[in-house]
Amino acid sequence: MKRILFEVFLVAALIGAGVFGVMNQKQASTAKAKITDLTAAAEAAEKSVKEKEESIKAAEEEMQALQEEMAGLEGKSNQLDAVKAALANGSTLTDLETMYKKEKSLSAERQVGMGALRMLTKGAEDPATLESFRKALQMSELGDRKNTICAAQLGLVAAGEKIKVMSECLPKSEKEGHGDKEGKDAHSKDDGHGKKDDGHGKVKGKGKDDGHGDKKDEKHAAPHWGYEGEMGPEKWGKEFPTCAAGKSQSPLDIKGPFVKSRMVISADYKEGPLKMLNNGHTIQVVASPGSKMRIDGIAYELLQFHFHRPSEENIAGKPMAMVAHFVHKNAEGKLAVLGVLLKEGNENPGIKTLWSNLPKEEKVEYAPEGVNFNPGNLLPREFDFYSYEGSLTTPPCTEGVRFFILKTAINIAKEQVQAFPYKMNARPVQPLKGRELLIN
Ligand SMILES: [Zn+2]
Repeated sequence: MKRILFEVFLVAALIGAGVFGVMNQKQASTAKAKITDLTAAAEAAEKSVKEKEESIKAAEEEMQALQEEMAGLEGKSNQLDAVKAALANGSTLTDLETMYKKEKSLSAERQVGMGALRMLTKGAEDPATLESFRKALQMSELGDRKNTICAAQLGLVAAGEKIKVMSECLPKSEKEGHGDKEGKDAHSKDDGHGKKDDGHGKVKGKGKDDGHGDKKDEKHAAPHWGYEGEMGPEKWGKEFPTCAAGKSQSPLDIKGPFVKSRMVISADYKEGPLKMLNNGHTIQVVASPGSKMRIDGIAYELLQFHFHRPSEENIAGKPMAMVAHFVHKNAEGKLAVLGVLLKEGNENPGIKTLWSNLPKEEKVEYAPEGVNFNPGNLLPREFDFYSYEGSLTTPPCTEGVRFFILKTAINIAKEQVQAFPYKMNARPVQPLKGRELLIN
């Protein structure tokens, strides 16, 4: 009789688990894993009546706890259903799309918001949903915006993409859930763990385990880095493994021997409304669409450019006053950075325009009204270059970035260097590790 009751509970619990929304998938799979465990426990118990009764009692207690847990989840699921219903006729999405169409480019935060709204309105399979999250991820990876990176990564995973998710992006509830079970029931913990990883695509290898059960989780949840001391470049590898273990890191000390290159590069930058961002590590100018560089005829769209003081690249062992990094991406997602060195000299009119429009607030895009800028104003006439395969010079230090450092530096006045809000934001030069340094 008890066994039948138990099975009725099981069916009810499974149906309950079935109604969870997208957001609760992981909790639901944990719940399902628990149920599987309980079934196994019940079967094993048939061996002896006494054992059976004890097991069933324990299972029922656990079932009780599970149902309480699920009641909580169901509440959340109801909220999600309500949100979906409210958005179902699509007018909120259409309104926002109309509003955003007037903007020439959307910030990563807005892209991720659009992704979420599209997912709730049109579903995770809609190509526009995926596209929003992809764009947000591309933009935010370059701008060190962790919350947006996480939102975009989790959005892509929810939409079925197999991508790596940073360990610090995993929902807090998941980590807490782990902790709870740890002391109580080692067996069900392992199963739950496996299931969760399935739901997360490639998370498993990435370092989810690093964060798991770690007392430093609080710190983990808010990664931060800088250029000095405890947060300095030597420590970046702790949170961002590529920074320490990478094989083609930037910047480099540029000195011979050089290998002759036949690559041809050019830049065609367009004037557009000025958009600036102080991301907490540098001053960044967000490019208007349409500015490109070409590498052997292949177009790379300018995404943004930003500054380092002093220059990150050294020339024969010495840095210049500053460097501007113009970050581009081609249709296949390959990144290319054009580096323009700035040496102390005459006042630079382009820099004057930028510095007189510095954002007053950190991490908020600032678009001064009526101010246009052409990034081409910061390029020298001569386009001779050094080139090498490198990486982003800030965490996560992603590799596969082609660098072109122009040999000709442009001028910047000493006062202009001093007016740059960051006194030191240059990563030290990195080992060459067998890479070729090209020269044209
Ligand atoms: Zn840079």
